[in-house]
Amino acid sequence: MKKIAVIGTGYVGLVSGTCFADSGNQVTCCDIDQLKINELTKGIMPIYEPGLKELVHKNVRKGTLKFSANISQEIKDAEVILIAVGTPMTSSGKADLTYVKQVAQSIGENLNGYKVIVTKSTVPVGTGKFIESVIREYDNGKHPFDVVSNPEFLREGTAIKDTMNMERAVIGATSEKAFQMIAEIHQPFTANIVKASLETAEIIKYAANAFLATKISFINDIANICERVGADVTKVSAGIGLDSRIGNKFLQAGVGFGGSCFPKDTAALLHISEDCGYDFKLIKAVIETNEGQRVQLVKKLLLALGSLQGKTISVLGLAFKPDTDDIRSSPALDIIPYLTEQGAIVKAYDPIAIVEAKKQIGYQCTYSEDIYETITASDACM
Ligand code: NAD
Repeated sequence: MKKIAVIGTGYVGLVSGTCFADSGNQVTCCDIDQLKINELTKGIMPIYEPGLKELVHKNVRKGTLKFSANISQEIKDAEVILIAVGTPMTSSGKADLTYVKQVAQSIGENLNGYKVIVTKSTVPVGTGKFIESVIREYDNGKHPFDVVSNPEFLREGTAIKDTMNMERAVIGATSEKAFQMIAEIHQPFTANIVKASLETAEIIKYAANAFLATKISFINDIANICERVGADVTKVSAGIGLDSRIGNKFLQAGVGFGGSCFPKDTAALLHISEDCGYDFKLIKAVIETNEGQRVQLVKKLLLALGSLQGKTISVLGLAFKPDTDDIRSSPALDIIPYLTEQGAIVKAYDPIAIVEAKKQIGYQCTYSEDIYETITASDACM
């Protein structure tokens, strides 16, 4: 049993904190967002994730999980600190480390004995060393600590299952002691531990996401060829996906990848490669193909309907994928404003993401949780 403080209670922090609590650790999930902490303390979830509410309630009742905005105190009380704050994309495509730096500073200011600081957030190569230097600066070198890179691979929509039965844990540690502590808390979830250096662990996360994004852009390029030559991409997908060397996952052609990870992580990897003087042509093409897919869909609509002026278009799906209310970088966020600018009347459907979508898209369209009501009397459905 370890005393764990999770700093950043979003999709990653809340799910992994809850799962570590469920496997027998004493966990406090912390956040600077006092409102989020108040709601969680009342049992209200800030996100939709299948099975999360039940697991949170169970562990709060058991006394293994609590929530706090008093980050300084929780740092002092913990043996292991997980950093799970956001690392959004800056306008240049780099990963923004502002929140990570804030957390490292408050860890440095509150260090009161040996602790293991674990980065779960997706961060560029070299960030572990940067975190180490910030903590040392604010602690004035008074206390021992170790920094570990332990990138997160959960997928929204299946996050609990992915954590409880993780295919592997990647642990990049600076000492054997820290490695053993973090390996121990992963034991209930997986036997596959990849032991690596800090830098290797950091790049594994980007390599994994870039590879999956490459599969998506590859099948979308194949789909675009299929449409021109009269072939069926779904059969091509089945035909190649049954080859175990290829695998059938991430081979569905469509509107391209979105979400809070693939767009920002492919852009960040491109920056990492540029910073070390390498021209990563493949990832540039992956990003370009992906951006083109949204346009492809709109082009098809224009081809079918001509002008969109006064046409009723129903858009099915606002989140970037099923079983989540996360709308970050969702294709719908680009497509709906485009349709309304062209004079279309847009009716949008999503079973769980409407509240989040309204915050971004506002009242440019009408919303419904009933798919049939949405498509009724539409000229086209996307
Ligand atoms: P999120 O935006 O859902 O949550 C981040 C949380 O951190 C927010 O609640 C925010 O209030 C809090 N925060 C920000 N600054 C803070 C501070 N100084 N102190 C305390 N809390 C602070 O983000 P997320 O989707 O959970 O992603 C977190 C990280 O994990 C990112 O680096 C992301 O790339 C990575 N990741 C995400 C996923 C995913 O599916 N969402 C999967 C794997 C990895």
